[in-house]
Amino acid sequence: MAYKKTEQYDEEITAGLSANYRQVLGMLGENPDREGLQKTPERLAKAMQFLTQGYQADAHEILNSAKFHEPVSEMIVVKDIEMYSMCEHHMLPFFGRVHVAYIPNGWITGLSKVARVVDVYARRLQVQERLTLEIMNAIKETLQPLGVAVVIEAQHLCMMMRGVQKQNSETTTSAFDGEFHKNPTRTEFLKLISSDLSRR
Ligand SMILES: [Zn+2]
Repeated sequence: MAYKKTEQYDEEITAGLSANYRQVLGMLGENPDREGLQKTPERLAKAMQFLTQGYQADAHEILNSAKFHEPVSEMIVVKDIEMYSMCEHHMLPFFGRVHVAYIPNGWITGLSKVARVVDVYARRLQVQERLTLEIMNAIKETLQPLGVAVVIEAQHLCMMMRGVQKQNSETTTSAFDGEFHKNPTRTEFLKLISSDLSRR
């Protein structure tokens, strides 16, 4: 398997980020030397490296590592994939669920790999629209299916915490390719995931 989860931190990057975050704390009016905050810059430095580790991963590689020839042409749906990302405008989290479907054209991939691909692109600074497209394109380019569809429902803390939008507003984005441009196929997919969409 070419992909492995990394929890290793680059010492130089951790030190550099920590020094900067220490300064940030001071500028925000905090005392970075008080007990509760002493290790915060380092923890934050590590957390940020973890949350942006997607830059080090290659979605195409992950999908190709588990690509099987299979004469299926039924729609494959992976729904309710948990997603945590950070908006590139405020570096605050947005999170929600991703639903992916594709219609194979001779090639399928492991279901867990689809979730990995979501992580690869979510663990970067993102906008929800681009995240949706990047997931779709990785599957399209690797498996060359007859169609791909991606729907993301997410809540953005930059909107919720800053109170500029309705507190519980959810943003839904979608991207469709190939067969999913046809109404019946798209409707079938939306119906398959809609039990979740209407649950809340
Ligand atoms: Zn934002």
